[in-house]
Amino acid sequence: MERICSGGLVYDCFSSFSQVPWLFHGCFTRKGGVSEGPYEGLNTGLNTGDSAQAVSVNRKAILDESGGGELVVLSQVHGKGVHVHTGTGVDSVEADALVTDRPGAMLTILTADCQAVVLVDPVKRVVANAHAGWRGSVEGVLPETVSVMENRFGCCPSDLLAGIGPSLGPCCAEFVHYKKELPRSFCTHRVGFNHFDFWAISRDQLCNTGLKAKNITAAQVCTQCDDEHYFSYRRSHTTGRMATVIGIK
Ligand SMILES: [Zn+2]
Repeated sequence: MERICSGGLVYDCFSSFSQVPWLFHGCFTRKGGVSEGPYEGLNTGLNTGDSAQAVSVNRKAILDESGGGELVVLSQVHGKGVHVHTGTGVDSVEADALVTDRPGAMLTILTADCQAVVLVDPVKRVVANAHAGWRGSVEGVLPETVSVMENRFGCCPSDLLAGIGPSLGPCCAEFVHYKKELPRSFCTHRVGFNHFDFWAISRDQLCNTGLKAKNITAAQVCTQCDDEHYFSYRRSHTTGRMATVIGIK
């Protein structure tokens, strides 16, 4: 990961994506921004209790940094719905992944512990961003997203590059009720008693759709462990959301 500090904002980029000249992407930390209290910094989540005006100022700062025309934000519901962004239209669509080939559309996933997984097809010029919390992992939002890239845009999975953003790590992903909540196949990535490595689970799911292992990078940064840079829902239920953004310039 390469850390970028620009105009008060601090965000991380996947080094493997730097070969794609027409791409903007960034996993924004909570640094910068105007939110206060438990949302301190760059909160981008509405319906968190933070002021809508502060969220709007924060989102504008990210849009300006991206150089895009709009941030495309979903109403995320922890499912596996994929929205193909063809026009303008923001916020109201209930889904957990976005795919587009439109320049200027900055696909945005909001998280506090869940994974944002960014995908780019350097050949077909298509980008995607998926919200994968544990429920999304169980539902299979990542295979669903790759499938839409293949079927709607003719992408070849072996061409795709993927990045798994900062999110709950195996150090903190404790699932006391895992026998009820998680499929048995996830036990391959059980760590110790009842912790799980969801970075590895996502990596497996992507490989199973045809991505090459060498094209998948995980930030390997745990959001619950780093209060200074990240919001964490597990650390505090009253908190903000970080934005992860990808788009075609
Ligand atoms: Zn941790």
